[in-house]
Formats: sequence, C-alpha cells, structure tokens
Amino acid sequence: MYLTQGLHRAVQQQPDAVATVCGERTRTFTETAERVARLAGALRGLGVASGDRVAMLSLNSDRFHEFLLAVPWADAVLNPINVRWSPAEIVYSLKDSGTRVLIVDDTFAPILPSLRPHLDVVIHAGNGPAPDGALSFEELIAGAEPVEDARRGGDELAGLFYTGGTTGNPKGVMLSHTNLMTSAFGFNATGYLFGPGCRYLHAAPMFHLADLAAWSAATAAGGTHVIVPAFEPAAILAAITRHQVTDTLLVPTMIQLLIDHPTVGEHDLTSLRSVVYGASPIAQSTLERAMKTLPNASFTQAYGMTELSPLAALLSPDDHRRTDLLRAAGRAAQNSEIRIVDPEDREVPRGTVGEIVCRGGNVMRGYWGLPEETATTLRGGWMHTGDGGYMDDQGYVFVVDRIKDMIVTGGENVYSAEVENALATHSGVASCAVIGVPDDEWGERVHAVVVAAPGHTPGAEELREHVKSLIAGYKAPRSVELADALPVSGAGKILKRELRRRYWADAERQVL
Ligand code: ATP
Ligand code: MG
Repeated sequence: MYLTQGLHRAVQQQPDAVATVCGERTRTFTETAERVARLAGALRGLGVASGDRVAMLSLNSDRFHEFLLAVPWADAVLNPINVRWSPAEIVYSLKDSGTRVLIVDDTFAPILPSLRPHLDVVIHAGNGPAPDGALSFEELIAGAEPVEDARRGGDELAGLFYTGGTTGNPKGVMLSHTNLMTSAFGFNATGYLFGPGCRYLHAAPMFHLADLAAWSAATAAGGTHVIVPAFEPAAILAAITRHQVTDTLLVPTMIQLLIDHPTVGEHDLTSLRSVVYGASPIAQSTLERAMKTLPNASFTQAYGMTELSPLAALLSPDDHRRTDLLRAAGRAAQNSEIRIVDPEDREVPRGTVGEIVCRGGNVMRGYWGLPEETATTLRGGWMHTGDGGYMDDQGYVFVVDRIKDMIVTGGENVYSAEVENALATHSGVASCAVIGVPDDEWGERVHAVVVAAPGHTPGAEELREHVKSLIAGYKAPRSVELADALPVSGAGKILKRELRRRYWADAERQVL
C-alpha cells in the first residue's frame, strides 16, 4: 500500500478527468502525474535522499496536493507544518525532525528569515516572485527531468505528523504508508464516504492529519480534489455549489459556522452526499439543524488522534438516527480494535470507565526520537490513547475526558468535560475550562476558569447552583475564577496544563 497508488490507477483509468480544482486552475490526472514526477526529480536533484524529511508550510492549494504525492514518489518523508504555529514552534519542529528542505507559499514567505538558518533548501510555491534565496516551485517543475515513482510504501515511513501539543510539547508521530492507508480504507469501508467519482472539498487545513486521511481516501478512490485556501464560510458554500462537491470533512465549529451563515439559503447544496466531522462530539441541536440544511448529506463522526493515523472509531450515518448514540464517538473502524482497560491494562467490564486503547493497522510506528514515550504508549501491543471512556454492549465507545484532565476529589472521579458541558449551558458563560487544584481537605478540588459572555458577570454561587441542577453536586466547581481568555494551542484546544501550572507543577499531579 502506498499513497501514490491512487494516482497511478487514475492515470490509467481516467487520464483526462479532473484531479484538482484550485481557484480558476484545474489539472487532469495526467498533468498531475507529470508534474509530480518532475517535482520528485527536482527534489532528487537538490539532494533529497531516501528517508529525508521535506516540509511544507502553506495554506491549502493544488501544490500541497502535489507535495503530498511528490515526496513519497522521490522516496522521501512528508513533514506538513501546522500553519497556526508561531515561528519558534516551527523552528522547534524543523530541528526536532531534522528537516532541511521546506516548501513555503506566499502567506508564510514573510517569516522565512527566522527559519532560513535551519534550512538548506527553500522552495517557494506561491504566485508572486520567489523571495531571495528561494527556488521557484514552478521553475523547478519546468526544468526537471521526471523520475520513476520510488513506490515508497508498506511499513516504510510516510510522514512525521506532530500532535496537537494539548498535553505537552508536540510529539512527532511516525506514520507508515500502511498506517495512513488503513485510515483511508476505514473511511471507504463505511460505504458512505469517498465513493467512486467523489469530489472532495478540502475545507479543513491540508497539513492536518484529519484532512490528510480524507485526502488519502479521495486519492485512492480516484476522486477530484476541490481546494480552497482556508476555511471561510462564504467561500466554502460557493465552492460546494460551483464544483458540485460530494464529500467534505469539517470540525463541529465549522459545521455551525456554515449553517449559521446568512447566505446559506441562497446556495444549492444538494450535491453534498457525505460530511465527516471529528475532533470533538457535536451538540445535538447543531447536528439536527445541519441535517435540515443539508438534506442529502449523511453525517459520520470520526474519533481519533495523530498516533492512530488518525482514525480509531466511526459513528456511522445510521447510528446518527439513534439520539442515544449522538454522545458516542462510534465503534472501532475497520482494521482496528478498541478496548477499555484499567491502570494494570486489564480489560474492564462494559459500561466502566477506563483508558481507551487501540491496536491495528492504524497504530503509529512510534514517536520520533522518543523511545521511552513510545514504549510506554505502545506497551503490551496496544496504543494507550490517554483518553478515558467506556464501551457499551454493542461496542460503541463514549469518550468522557482526557485522563490527565480527570479530577479526583474526595475519592470521586470527576470528568472535567462533563462539568464544562454543564457550565457552558449557563447564559453568562462564553467559554470555560475545569481543572483540579490542590485542596487540603479533598485532595483535589473542582475549579472552574470562566470567560463571561459579553455583558455578564456570573457569580460563583450562581454557577455552582446551575451545575448542581444538571449533574451530581460533588462535580460542581468549589471555586470559580473569571478570566479574559483561555490559553489555547495551535489547534485551538484549551491548554489546561497552562491553567494548572499556577497551582502546581504538573509532574506532582497523579491521576487514575
Ligand atoms: P497532544 O497529544 O500533543 O497533547 P492532542 O492529543 O490534542 O495533543 P491530537 O492527536 O490532534 O493532539 O488530538 C487527539 C485528541 O483529540 C484525542 O486524544 C481526543 O482527546 C480528542 N478527540 C478527537 N476526536 C474526538 C471525538 N470525536 N470526540 C471526543 N474527543 C475527540
Ligand atoms: Mg494526544
């Protein structure tokens, strides 16, 4: 199995069909394969050797698509960079991964001076002139001789993908071609997603593994990639209509922004067959409205993480008809197995909360340069997700919280996510984070950091009473602090370790 396989099939079966649409530019499969073979030749000519890492720092574009194909074609390893990272974070990942070749677009060219000392080769994949010291992507393709596809595949390293950095420093996850293709086939096996003739819209950033899994699935199916630079609701709605998009992947907040957009009613969205969403569960009311707005679309939820390429479980369109399942993350995807275990790695009875562990073709080869973390995470043949959850009698997995975020107060486990969900229903709360802080009497106490909604100043007692009216009293925050904003990671997830740091060094804190 290898990432470029779908391109070879498409060239043979539908050479003149459209492979990519990006703005006003379209390219057929034949054109794409020729450009990719030349770009791979150019990379080789620049000294990129087998297994070398090649990074791309760019908004979505058809050149990103060509990067994803040309790097394995040249027998090298992908390193897509998180576009929300600061220059310091980018330097950290370049140094950590030993990446010396970077492809950069117009948007990120201005930060090149801070990256340049860490790089041997910079390639400019933009529309304007190449900045000083950078080679032009288009000129390289025009001038290079095409090379044969190395057909890098199987258990060989396909890419390094950095985790979100929510619980610590981002870690480089080593994923093989088989790992990535397992996720792609997991999507395809649902029978709903990325079918033949699909036109997949890249609404999420292409550097992100969730979109990359969808990219692999659409590429394997010989589908057309419809590419917009970044998520912008009006542009997404227009692209769906104009390009008759059939499939897309969105995070729940993107779904909300689309269906709430004032012009949503003016677009013909009937071509959209499948929406896959992930990273977090969706509020039932949002999902119901989305189903009404997109009457032809089926909805699939994906649960996963970087270490699982990223797909672990899917909640199918049929499951979405059962309201009791809308809180679930889904059931193990094809070619993977899920179990719930206790701290001694023994499987717990159904319905009991423990750590979610996973094994199968989707499990990473390990963390780059971190043998100890790799051994701990992959112990006993199972990938330990760090997520707490339970499984019902039919194998549906319910995620309750990250284990590091669970709070033990007076011997009771409190899942911070449950308290946050309760707090979030209060009209005075714009956003919130619930953490455990040291407490002489209770060991840990439930503490809420709340960003007030505009024009509100909710009181601690009022918030406590509100939570108590929804969930058990011991879960209600014993202390509340108002904040202007919550610290978030590059992926937009709340950094609770930052909030906890003020109360104790995280290392002192042991849970489960
Ligand atoms: P780090 O590992 O560096 O702390 P991270 O875990 O946020 O960062 P990712 O691999 O991008 O990095 O995120 C995976 C995590 O996102 C999962 O472990 C889980 O906690 C959460 N998640 C993903 N999908 C879902 C879902 N459908 N429902 C609930 N939580 C989800
Ligand atoms: Mg993680």
